[in-house]
Amino acid sequence: MTIKLYNTKTRQKEVFKPIVDGKASMYVCGPTVYERAHLGNARPVLVFDMLYRLLRHEYGAENVKYVRNFTDVDDKINARAAQTGRPISEITDETIGWFLDDMGALGALEPTDMPRATEYIAPMIAMIEDLIAKGHAYAAEGHVLFKVRSYKDYGKLSGRSVDDMIAGARVEVAPYKEDPMDFVLWKPSSDDLPGWDSPWGRGRPGWHIECSAMAYELLGAAFDIHGGGNDLTFPHHENEIAQSKCAGHDFANVWMHNEMLQVEGKKMSKSLGNFFTVRDLLDQGVPGEVIRFVMLSTHYRKPMDWTEKKRDEAEKTLGDWVKATDGVVPSLPDKGVVAAISDDLNTAGAITRLHELSKSGDKATLKASIHFLGIDIDKFAKEQSILSSIEEGLKTAPIVEALEIELKKARLEKNFARADEIRDGFKNAGLTITYDSDGGITFKREANFDPTKLEALK
Ligand code: AMP
Ligand code: ZN
Repeated sequence: MTIKLYNTKTRQKEVFKPIVDGKASMYVCGPTVYERAHLGNARPVLVFDMLYRLLRHEYGAENVKYVRNFTDVDDKINARAAQTGRPISEITDETIGWFLDDMGALGALEPTDMPRATEYIAPMIAMIEDLIAKGHAYAAEGHVLFKVRSYKDYGKLSGRSVDDMIAGARVEVAPYKEDPMDFVLWKPSSDDLPGWDSPWGRGRPGWHIECSAMAYELLGAAFDIHGGGNDLTFPHHENEIAQSKCAGHDFANVWMHNEMLQVEGKKMSKSLGNFFTVRDLLDQGVPGEVIRFVMLSTHYRKPMDWTEKKRDEAEKTLGDWVKATDGVVPSLPDKGVVAAISDDLNTAGAITRLHELSKSGDKATLKASIHFLGIDIDKFAKEQSILSSIEEGLKTAPIVEALEIELKKARLEKNFARADEIRDGFKNAGLTITYDSDGGITFKREANFDPTKLEALK
C-alpha cells in the first residue's frame, strides 16, 4: 500500500519511497535520562511506534531499522547527581529502566537499536575532527564550535534565516565564539564532571553531535526518516542537519515532527500543578491501553489535549471492544484501517473505521485491526477484570467500611456537617460517592484514587 508522510523539510505530504527498495530506516531523538517520562514524552514514542508498526507491516519486521537514542550525558543529569549525591550511572540506568517499563506499558515496541550517547564518544570525536578539517568548526579555549554561517542551508528545515534566528533565540554569547549563532560540539569538563580525553583536552560532547554521530554509525550516511517532537525542530534538528551535511552525509530524507501535548487545554507544567508522569497515571489505575488510545485519537500534527473526559470515553470504547472481540481469533487488519494509517498516520480516521467495524464488521478483522494500532485488547480485558475485583473489595477495606458506617449514621442523625466532611474526604481521596434511593452508598474510583488520604478523616 502507498504510504504518504508529511515532510517538515518540504512542507508537504509525500509518497514515501525508501532509499533501499523494500527496507526502511528511521532515527528518533530519545529522552535525556534523569527523571521519569512525563505524559508529553510519551507522545513521540507512541507516534513513531505507530509509524514503526506501519513500516513493519509494509516491509516486514526484519526490513525495518529503528534507532532511538538515550541521552545519558547532559548537564541536567550532572545537576541531578550533584543534588542527590548519587552516581550518574545509577541515575541514568534507573531512568532508562523506568522509561522502557513505562513505554512498554503503553504498548510501544522497543526500537531495533537504543544507543546510549556515552557509548559513542569516539565516533563523535571523529566527526568533530572531520568538521574542523573541512573548515566547518573551530577549537577555542577547550571548546569546539560549529560555524553556523559556513553552512548555507542553515535554517531551511524550520524556514528561518540565520538573522531571524539570532533575533529570536536565546543564543549564548561567549568570548570563545566567533559568532553568537555558533553552537557547541565539544566542551571542557572540570574534574568533578564526566569527561573523555580528546584532542581539545578532557571534555564532553554537546547535545546535537550525539544524534548526528549515532545516526551515522547505526544507519549510515543516508537514511529514510528522522523524527521527534516539534520543539526539537530548532535548534536541535537544524544543528543535526548542519553537522551531518557538512560532514558529507546525505542524512535524513523525511523529517517528521509531532505537536505537543497539553492537559485540559493548558501547557503541562510543574508550576501549573497539572504535570504528571506516565507512571502516575498507571499507578492511578489508568490502563496503558487507555493512554495509548487517547494519544492516538488526535492526529500527531495537531496539539493533543489530555482530558479526563477523553480518558473515560476511551475506557468505555475499549470496554465495548472487549465484549465484541472476546474469544475471537484475530485475522488480518482491515484495509481501511491500514489505509488511514498509511495516509500520514491518520490515527483518528483509523479509530473511526474501528467504530464502524465494531458495529457491523467481522470480529476477527476488528480484533486484528485493534492489534495493528498496538492495542492489546486481551491484556486490557484482563486488567479490567482485576480492577473491578479490587473495586468490589474496596467497600470491605476496613477504613472505607468504618467511614461508610459513620457517614450513614451522620446522615440519619442529620449531622450534615460531619456527613459533608466525610463525603469531601472521600472525594479528596479519589472516591466519588452517590447516595442511592434505598439509603445505600455507591463509590466510584477516580483517577486520583489514594486511600491513604482517608486516614485523616478518622
Ligand atoms: P526531552 O527529554 O525533553 O528532550 O524530550 C524527549 C522527547 O519528548 C522529545 O522528542 C520532545 O520533543 C518530546 N516532548 C517533550 N515535551 C513534550 C510535550 N509536552 N508534548 C509532546 N512531546 C513532548
Ligand atoms: Zn536528536
